[in-house]
Amino acid sequence: MPLTKAYMQLSDAALCWLETILLERYGYPFVLKWDGDRIRMTLSGASGEICFDTLQSVFSKPNSDFSCGFWDGTAENWQMASEEFLPTPAVTEPPVPLIRKIDAGYVVHYDILGLTYWMLSRQEEVGRTDLDKHGRFPAIASNAYRNGYLGRPIVDEWLNLLGQVIQRQWPALELKRHRFSMKVSHYVDVPSRYGFDGTYRLLRGMAGDLLKRRDWRNMYFRVTSRVNTRSRLYPADPVNSFNWIMDISEQHELTSAFYFISGRTNPRMDATYEIEYPSIRRLMRDVHARGHEIGLHPSYNTYRNPVKIVAEADRLRRVCGEEGILQHEWGGRMHYLRWKHPVTLRGWEAAGMTYDSTLGYADRPGFRCGTCFEYPAFDPVECKALKLRIRPLVAMECSIIGEHYMNSSLGQGARQEFLRLKAACRAVDGCFTLLWHNSQLCSAEKRKLYLDVLSQ
Ligand SMILES: [Zn+2]
Repeated sequence: MPLTKAYMQLSDAALCWLETILLERYGYPFVLKWDGDRIRMTLSGASGEICFDTLQSVFSKPNSDFSCGFWDGTAENWQMASEEFLPTPAVTEPPVPLIRKIDAGYVVHYDILGLTYWMLSRQEEVGRTDLDKHGRFPAIASNAYRNGYLGRPIVDEWLNLLGQVIQRQWPALELKRHRFSMKVSHYVDVPSRYGFDGTYRLLRGMAGDLLKRRDWRNMYFRVTSRVNTRSRLYPADPVNSFNWIMDISEQHELTSAFYFISGRTNPRMDATYEIEYPSIRRLMRDVHARGHEIGLHPSYNTYRNPVKIVAEADRLRRVCGEEGILQHEWGGRMHYLRWKHPVTLRGWEAAGMTYDSTLGYADRPGFRCGTCFEYPAFDPVECKALKLRIRPLVAMECSIIGEHYMNSSLGQGARQEFLRLKAACRAVDGCFTLLWHNSQLCSAEKRKLYLDVLSQ
């Protein structure tokens, strides 16, 4: 095999990691092997193979500039997860037929494995410089957004199809079945509107209420909130929606994950609380006692600094330990979804965290990794599989209703967008991962929207 060919960059380590992805998806240890310029997929003890003979070099590069076509699978008698044609990134006009029966088994003329590698490893994002003002790789720069498939879990749709090919080749196999699920999580960015304000901030706010806004009630609220946020969060504070969130999750048989900021690397962007505060410790005890989850929300400037992610994770686990909070799993998500690939990933791995759930875009909801299934992380620069698991984020409430992003109103448009994404996850029996800030549940309208998204 000539080494100059770009497809060689899908290393043995990458193939081995892809075998794990297939094992988790189908429940069988399929073997992937190079054979010249194709990859053969076989199963020990079973005859025949599925061969991928049209591999794409772009899937081993940090690049979004390539075209995408669409394939009508139903015309070739395959069942498709979506009524719309299946996107074929890197191939403008997919060959017909795309999948052919041969003596040895089946041959697939589309690089499903390459696409899976490229999307899941986030190879696309390595070393990118077209970032937004928070240093994030934005949805609008991605191949998925530019080609109109960000709203679809295309890796899952392709793996669904591959599952059908497997089933035709080896009909006796009972492939693993997955069930649709939903995971809700909440950043604890602002657990109290004014309760943790320092004296200067408090006085400045009061002066503003009095002189600029002429809002006596708010000035009074500032003071009572501050006085009443000591051993616990002030019950009358509208951002203190934690009990309501847990009530609703329990009614829907869901576990809520609350991610706490455990450090300060930018005083302007990070939280005003410390996790050692009695009221925060009490909140964490309440969350744990009710069977919900506590997780990490690394502060604003940690995304380039694995050492700081480790320190903040250690601090959270130490405080939880002091409160008698033991968890089997520790996960979380980056503050502002800041992510430098793969440096941030390495920070989570070094911190010994079970999962990270940052990988969704802030500027658009959808499927940044092309999947709504959790999977083991892969470092595309060091070319190695990690222990850390990636739990992709599908929708953050402010990506849909926030004024900086899509700015849908709280009405039908937003509701439909959330439910469309949820339905896309359901169609592939995946997991709809939703992020909703505790501070974004202050109005009856927002609470109703949240309830609708959970219950429908
Ligand atoms: Zn945050």
